[in-house]
Amino acid sequence: NKKVILNDYVSGFPKESDMNIVDSTITLKIPEGSNDVVLVKNLYLSCDPYMRTLMSNPEGSINPRAYTPQSPIAGYGVSKVLESTHKDYKEGDLVWGITNWEEYSLIPAAQIHFKIEHTDVPLSYYTGILGMPGMTAYSGFFEVGSPKKGESVFVSAASGAVGQLVGQFAKLHGCYVVGSAGSKEKVDLLKNKFGYDEAINYKEEQDLDAALKRHFPEGIDIYFENVGGKTLDAVLLNMKIHGRIPVCGMISQYNLTQHEGVTNLAHLIYKRIRMQGFVVVDYYHLYAKFLEFVLPHIREGKVVYVEDIAEGLEKGPAALVGIFKGQNVGKQVLVIARE
Ligand code: NDP
Repeated sequence: NKKVILNDYVSGFPKESDMNIVDSTITLKIPEGSNDVVLVKNLYLSCDPYMRTLMSNPEGSINPRAYTPQSPIAGYGVSKVLESTHKDYKEGDLVWGITNWEEYSLIPAAQIHFKIEHTDVPLSYYTGILGMPGMTAYSGFFEVGSPKKGESVFVSAASGAVGQLVGQFAKLHGCYVVGSAGSKEKVDLLKNKFGYDEAINYKEEQDLDAALKRHFPEGIDIYFENVGGKTLDAVLLNMKIHGRIPVCGMISQYNLTQHEGVTNLAHLIYKRIRMQGFVVVDYYHLYAKFLEFVLPHIREGKVVYVEDIAEGLEKGPAALVGIFKGQNVGKQVLVIARE
């Protein structure tokens, strides 16, 4: 049973060498007397930015939870049930939830979030558009952002797992949408694939404030915050009165030992802005409603999803580290097995 283990707590930018691939034997049977556990074969694993916060020493970290050094890292994944002692799961079921980065895992049934009912769409989508990132885009934009038709929306990390969906949901809702991303290829995707009205390559803009003023002469109603730092500072200067900022993530800060300061927060007052952090796990009760909304759009090609697929556990550390360098184009998925 090959697995990806964390060597030790990480400080600063994560490196491939912070993780190791090890092999061990596993008895493909649930030990007798174990209740409510499920033995799964892992198929698709999700590379997510929050996983970096679990690599830090929990003392003094923004995340009080942490991986255990010398143990497998864990995250969202799509798995097939091989055996189960929980009434809701049986052999052959496909599920998504939290699993370990290894070929086979024995996990508490409580770690499974949902059984997969719709298999006419790619299974890997349950690490992305039909899984945690999809729910993040949906709840963050609609529930926290309170969008109205015709409003102006800005999205950072706009071509990523979450961002590409926020842009498309905003367009479906009748909004004007601009995204920022870190390469020409991504900017092209934003405009030509995801339907963003305009796109900014933030790595090439000397003056982000000026770029925002160019695209939002009347200001921004909703800023879907994925990156924090300098981008947030420039956005605060360009928000409209009664604007909303759903704070989804701040990836530019996760690897810094000292976080950057944001200097324009006083604009929250002048402009009566509602800036609200949210965590997707608080919204999983909306999952059925979300599927009802998104599945028809996927089937009709009205919402598309771009994935960046890495093959094999060996590629896991590089794929995970790559998202902090912007190497992923679309949702970063790691394939362990296809069935
Ligand atoms: P992505 O697929 O967008 O991958 C991360 C992207 O972030 C990279 O491709 C890169 O794109 C960009 N990036 C990396 N470093 C920086 C930096 N220093 N400054 C600016 N951009 C950077 O990830 P997700 O869509 O999965 O996640 C997006 C955000 O949403 C993250 O902040 C994540 O933590 C957050 N999140 C929050 C959740 C919640 O419940 N609140 C749930 C899920 C995600 P580029 O080339 O454009 O720079």
